[in-house]
Amino acid sequence: MRTVASNADVKKALPGLADFAGRIGDRQVRERGTIGGSLANDHPAACYPSAVLALNATVVMDRRRIAADDFFIDMYTTMLEPDELIVAVEFPLAERAGYEKFRNPASHFALIGVFVAKFRDGSVRVGVGVSSGRSGNGAGEGLFCRVRTRRDNLARRTQR
Ligand SMILES: Cc1cc2nc3c(=O)[nH]c(=O)nc-3n(C[C@H](O)[C@H](O)[C@H](O)COP(=O)(O)OP(=O)(O)OC[C@H]3O[C@@H](n4cnc5c(N)ncnc54)[C@H](O)[C@@H]3O)c2cc1C
Repeated sequence: MRTVASNADVKKALPGLADFAGRIGDRQVRERGTIGGSLANDHPAACYPSAVLALNATVVMDRRRIAADDFFIDMYTTMLEPDELIVAVEFPLAERAGYEKFRNPASHFALIGVFVAKFRDGSVRVGVGVSSGRSGNGAGEGLFCRVRTRRDNLARRTQR
């Protein structure tokens, strides 16, 4: 995570992502934690799942690639097979992007976080992480798009 925050290319191409990565957890967490681990773990309030959803990223595994929209199924549940490894994440360039969160004052873990990205074609995507993982608490329509995406994927998977 430190690498993303400090990389000159990321800072230039996607400054919102670099800024975001530099505010995850604390220094020790950023030093040891990885994007792959965060996505695979899929904590409901984790920061990276919101970023990859909002930025319309592609998760690249050792044998296949999946759009972020299709990657997350439910809390702590992704499309990853037990023997699959995330080897890269590809981010399209956004015109503007930014992340804000309320964090636990002790651990600095996000309680709720929202990543917003605006693309050159005018489209806007929002990724939301929330520690309860429940929808319908009245916090606003856009808030639960990540939860909805997961439920859609869960339904799709159960129908197979
Ligand atoms: C004090 C504290 C504060 C934190 N604050 C935040 C925060 O603000 N925001 C936030 O988002 N997170 C936060 N975290 C969580 C932290 O970001 C995650 O623990 C970290 O991202 C996990 O990454 P890791 O590389 O250590 O994965 P690991 O913990 O090593 O692995 C997690 C899971 O993913 C699997 N895995 C790991 N890498 C891959 C891979 N490449 N491909 C497939 N599967 C893989 C592992 O097998 C395991 O099941 C915090 C954690 C702590 C302890």
